[in-house]
Amino acid sequence: MEKKIAVLAGDGIGPEVMAQALRVLEAVGQRFGHSFELNEALVGGAAYDEFGVHFPDATKQLCADSDAILFGSVGGPVSEMHLEKWQNCEVNALLGIRKAFSFNCNFRPVKVFPQLRSICPLKEELIKDGIDILFIRELNGDLYFGEKKRFERDGMRVATDLAEYTEEQISSVAKVAFDAAQKRSGRLCSVDKANVLHTSKLWREVVHEVAKDYPDVELEDMLVDNCAMQLIKGPAQFDVVLTSNMFGDILSDAGAVLPGSLGLMASASMNAEGFGLYEPPGGSAQDIAGKGLANPIGQILSVATMLTFSFGLTEEGKCIESAVEKTLEAGFRTGDICGSGESSIGTEQMCDAVLERL
Ligand code: NAD
Repeated sequence: MEKKIAVLAGDGIGPEVMAQALRVLEAVGQRFGHSFELNEALVGGAAYDEFGVHFPDATKQLCADSDAILFGSVGGPVSEMHLEKWQNCEVNALLGIRKAFSFNCNFRPVKVFPQLRSICPLKEELIKDGIDILFIRELNGDLYFGEKKRFERDGMRVATDLAEYTEEQISSVAKVAFDAAQKRSGRLCSVDKANVLHTSKLWREVVHEVAKDYPDVELEDMLVDNCAMQLIKGPAQFDVVLTSNMFGDILSDAGAVLPGSLGLMASASMNAEGFGLYEPPGGSAQDIAGKGLANPIGQILSVATMLTFSFGLTEEGKCIESAVEKTLEAGFRTGDICGSGESSIGTEQMCDAVLERL
């Protein structure tokens, strides 16, 4: 198979973990006889330095000419957010790219690796049945894209963000979630705030209409506040969780800490045509950038997800996932996933260990 991949490493630890993930991609390509053409482009602060914008046209064009996008992370140190280079960096780059390619659906798996149960922030009794959740978040609607206003009323500053959903936006992501539930446990939890919000009432209505085409999937509605609580009290009850854009942003980040580090998972954003972007859920981790300490596993698993979702290379994807699990089983740890008494290795050594087990 021959595929073109746009590589957008971005800022902070992005280029460090991306370099390792590309070693894994190359090794898989060699082993299975595939040819991957990798084309790098700038995004985030790195793009700002060169072009004065966070998502340049040249990067957009390169992505449009590719079969998939591998993304690192963008953004500056929290203490430098006031600098022009970093202002709105994440919004411009990430929302820009989502809008440009109409990514309407975000997949966020959350799994506690059996080898890493001791670093899950929850008590053993809550995770003993295992945690394996797939968040599916709508990406194109809600507060993020509705009309935004800032004005003065009666001498007071006022701001509004309009939350808007069309039935088409809801049904489209709901179908993806029902399909995913069919392939997993057959259970789907749809999250809303239908006791208060009009957008949520429509959300629930449309999700139930879509459910009629999936009689084999057991659908449960859950209010977002209860879902936040249940994620901590009983995470094992969840399998596929469907959310709107805003609720998904918050809940999937809460879920992202369950594995023990942001550096352990991959996420995917897809559009209706099946074009996808693959990235770890964390940010540019400027606190450890440039030190060779970042965990490359999330970025390596992004490669596995890309091979499976975008190119249908399931065996190749599984091969990478299994190498990662064996690496963790063998006791290799970067600093972020080190338990007490364990010694840690750096970014490159972690990738070496994965490559040895591939
Ligand atoms: P962050 O996700 O970058 O880091 C949070 C914590 O997790 C840090 O302690 C960091 O060291 C750790 N961490 C994250 N990934 C890790 C990895 N692979 N290995 C080891 N440790 C890891 O969040 P932050 O520090 O609040 O944000 C830093 C910058 O990233 C900000 O500019 C923010 O806007 C941006 N950001 C970007 C994205 C993205 O590109 N998708 C997502 C979130 C935040």
